[in-house]
Amino acid sequence: MTSLPPGGWPTPQSLYVHVPFCRHRCGYCNFSVISGRDDLQDRFLQAVERELTSTPDASRAQLRTIFLGGGTPTRLSPDRLKRLRQSIDDTFSVADDAEITAEANPEDIDEACLNALQDIGVNRISLGVQSFDADKLRCLERGHNRESALAAIEAAAERIGNVSIDLIFGAPGETLESWKTDLAIASQSPITHVSTYALTFEKGTSFWSRRSRGNLSEVDESLELQMYEAAQHQFSKNAWQQYEISSFTNGPHRCRHNLAYWAGNGWHAVGPGAARFVDGKREVNHRSATNYIKRMLNDGVATDEIEAITLEQYARELAAFGVRQLDGIDLATVHDRTSINLETVLSQTLIKLQSMELVTYQNHHLRLTQRGILFADTVATALLSEPE
Ligand code: SF4
Repeated sequence: MTSLPPGGWPTPQSLYVHVPFCRHRCGYCNFSVISGRDDLQDRFLQAVERELTSTPDASRAQLRTIFLGGGTPTRLSPDRLKRLRQSIDDTFSVADDAEITAEANPEDIDEACLNALQDIGVNRISLGVQSFDADKLRCLERGHNRESALAAIEAAAERIGNVSIDLIFGAPGETLESWKTDLAIASQSPITHVSTYALTFEKGTSFWSRRSRGNLSEVDESLELQMYEAAQHQFSKNAWQQYEISSFTNGPHRCRHNLAYWAGNGWHAVGPGAARFVDGKREVNHRSATNYIKRMLNDGVATDEIEAITLEQYARELAAFGVRQLDGIDLATVHDRTSINLETVLSQTLIKLQSMELVTYQNHHLRLTQRGILFADTVATALLSEPE
């Protein structure tokens, strides 16, 4: 049985909705995605409605952030998007100033799509741009080009205002110079936020099989590090600021939804593969969209994994996610929230990470060094692991 933190588990004020439909499955993608089955959209919405209705204690708090992710939420027609928003409103109350984000692909952005997003209260859009370079976009199997990506950014900025883009680096054959061009184009576009990710080869994707057959090769690690540093360099200019290892913003536009995740504040999540954290329990839904729909509509539940986390795990996760933010994390606050004294539990780990010059640790405050930012996964893994 999990014991309670001193103030009880935080009441979730965030909701993630996973919309799995995509025009095409990109070769590197291992999300819960279904393509060529838009005929399932109504049954999917029925399943989501059922899942939302059965959310325990949904009325306890107002939602302060909603994130429609995927997949591609904008594969849903305007009427279906409205139906989705209605089903959220039927379950939760939503704060007037809630951050409501929708992910979208640049090729879906047109007048009708922007009208629909505005109608359902979306005030932040996250575009899966990934690159502006024709060869790289072809390699990543994306359906847009530089012109359509820039047109989508412009249109979204004009209508929605708050535009984030995702960029991928380290695609096969990509050079440092072409990545710097991507960064320069992005920084001159009217975006407020950018997330940069190194391409990863995940088991089960076609990129993984092609690499195994020798048909696709990764960029080497030192080039990947140079690319990461190029992004830091580009987005340290003017009003830009890096606030998390993958996230940059040019004003007061930190993603509030992600901040809630990283602060361990708890969140609801519905849809295939969706993972939630409520009352100290981490639950993950079935990944397959068709099974999710079947199970939700037949049994009223589609949870695949349930894990009750201990207070020590919770404290370690607060530290591991907290330290990925460049402001760092106060371990005394973690102690207050969890009753776990990480300064004692992690004393050897903290000494080791400091000796490797990956973190600084002063007045209870743990922060990544510039070197630590480059090896943030190593730091997070050390904070989450049992001592050797
Ligand atoms: S559009 Fe995004 S979610 Fe859909 S398959 Fe491509 S990478 Fe995956």
